[in-house]
Amino acid sequence: MNNNKYKILLVEDENNILAFVSALLESNDYKVISARDYNSAKTLYTSHIPDLVILDLGLPDKDGSVLLNDIRSDDLTPVIVLSARNDEREKVKLLDMGANDYVTKPFGSDELLARVRSALRNTRHSSSEGRLPGGKFTLIDLMIDYDARRIFIGEQEIKLTQTEYNIVAFLSEHCGKVMTYSAIIKSVWRETPNESSIKKLQVNMANIRKKFGARPGEFNYIVNELGVGYRMNG
Ligand code: CA
Repeated sequence: MNNNKYKILLVEDENNILAFVSALLESNDYKVISARDYNSAKTLYTSHIPDLVILDLGLPDKDGSVLLNDIRSDDLTPVIVLSARNDEREKVKLLDMGANDYVTKPFGSDELLARVRSALRNTRHSSSEGRLPGGKFTLIDLMIDYDARRIFIGEQEIKLTQTEYNIVAFLSEHCGKVMTYSAIIKSVWRETPNESSIKKLQVNMANIRKKFGARPGEFNYIVNELGVGYRMNG
């Protein structure tokens, strides 16, 4: 028996989704514990200390966001929200409340598994590691040298402004996770986000993507999550 499996708490009240996601995760070598409502989820969370929580928002007794709040007041266990609501404001709110990611129903197996891997990877490489002396970040051909504040794709150095560099470094520290406009603006400009700072971020990001040689339909290091924020793919 393998005791090193990641333990995932799955909170979902719809039986067919619960069965589908459990089977998918188990066949990919994760250990799954499941709950159908807020109360039992809260009990299982406390007694099992899972590595990851997959959380449906529409639960019979309470909104899933209440559990997200409980978890965040306590620790940094990654939470992926399952949302039937394709509403950008809702997504932003959940991400700012501390959700690591969201998947909108209906979703495919590959999409969910990619999000799970990414959320678990994120916690293993905690963001401070990149800031240690000699810290480097690598992702496929992308390399960031945090000490020298230089970025390379393959052999080629990508010349960025200080602000552009700060944005890319911030996204790399949270690789795989959608960072909302507000989270990026607070970190890079130390400002309270408003319409003009969002515009400023978008202009910087357009320049970064151009310098990175971003092409639609191909793999891009930085993905634009429309109306929500940006994600470094990973
Ligand atoms: Ca539900």
